[in-house]
Amino acid sequence: MISVAEAHKIIQGRIRSPKTETVKINDATGRVLAREVVTTFPQPRFDNTAMDGFAVRAGDPEGASSASPVTLSMKGTITAGGPAAIVIGAGECCQIMTGAPMPEGADAVVMVEDSSGFGDSSSVDISREVVEKENVRYSGEEIAEGETLIHPGNRLGAGEIGVAATFGYGELEVYRRPNIALFATGDELIEPGEELKPGQIYNSNLHVFAELSERVGTLITMQRVLKDSRESLKDFLSEAIEKSNLIVSSGGVSMGKHDYVRDVFLELGVKEYFWKVAQKPGRPLFFGESGGTLIFGLPGNPVSSFTCFMEYVWPTCERFMGLTPINKVTARLLESFPQETEKRRYLLGHVEMDGREMVAKPSGKYGSHMFTSALMANAILESPRGEGPLKSGQEITVRLLPWSELQ
Ligand code: AMP
Ligand code: MG
Repeated sequence: MISVAEAHKIIQGRIRSPKTETVKINDATGRVLAREVVTTFPQPRFDNTAMDGFAVRAGDPEGASSASPVTLSMKGTITAGGPAAIVIGAGECCQIMTGAPMPEGADAVVMVEDSSGFGDSSSVDISREVVEKENVRYSGEEIAEGETLIHPGNRLGAGEIGVAATFGYGELEVYRRPNIALFATGDELIEPGEELKPGQIYNSNLHVFAELSERVGTLITMQRVLKDSRESLKDFLSEAIEKSNLIVSSGGVSMGKHDYVRDVFLELGVKEYFWKVAQKPGRPLFFGESGGTLIFGLPGNPVSSFTCFMEYVWPTCERFMGLTPINKVTARLLESFPQETEKRRYLLGHVEMDGREMVAKPSGKYGSHMFTSALMANAILESPRGEGPLKSGQEITVRLLPWSELQ
């Protein structure tokens, strides 16, 4: 039996650098950037007007007010998208529309609201003074050319996609999503929606795995509930090893008479890196590799399965995709928390902010079969080996569930 820290070290040692692919910008949502996005030009790219109005020399409407407007002669119109093929001299102006390039000679824009309006006349009355640069967006005032905007390892959302588009990126290089094969074993398992016979239970783990796999961003290649039979396990695994970067199973890795999963892994030539980790729940965790496919055998109790997925599989998926897993944090316990002399102890729990401090409350449901404890949980709490229990008021290590909100 190895420690949790040793287990993590072994797993990390088996993860190769993630591969990349190029995707269209519209397909990039949720993906992780692999090649930096830099500014290909200064932003704004050219001096342009922030308002619909008149491009002028700032000194020209000096003293203008609605009571005594200043008349400027009209040189034409510049619209957004067109060139600025006009030169503004003293006493002159032109009509200019938001986003249109500033004409040579002009250094300020008077809003149309402060004038006699857009018209066909050869002059316009300006009823307000302007200062130099007023209502002008200058080239490079937001950001210079050649600056890094988005670093590799960032997940792409609306902001990142919008910024990439702003600088003309039609495609982005992102990390590949790993292929993942999921299976659950157990003769007792029935799919939700079907009718239970005596002794049977519904398969929940595989649905949890599928939800988590999709949420973290992997591609599910296979997903199946298998009987506790060597043949069905072998058939599934041979195909899954071919098709997937990761395989995750639930159940059948303990000491039960029909716990064949590990045996079949070994029969198929899977290299075992470890089996059994000093943790509760989740002690019978298996980790191995076959032909570059990483294989996690998770125990079947639903809380064990979920905890092991979040502790080991989720961060592995993140690393496969070029993400850096988030660090655990500490919180102050509001209740006592069990400790084990030989094992790390996990419980689902709830954390929240109490002023500037994070406080944590473990689920009162201690059993690894009690998955309803997941309903109140936004975190997994953990105590190190020790003579505990940890007392209310002591610090506890917390893994925030990445999708949950902290209030
Ligand atoms: P095992 O690890 O196969 O010994 O299973 C441990 C416990 O978890 C047993 O009570 C199983 O019935 C239960 N279990 C196994 N697989 C699942 C599953 N997919 N969904 C819900 N419970 C399961
Ligand atoms: Mg079983």
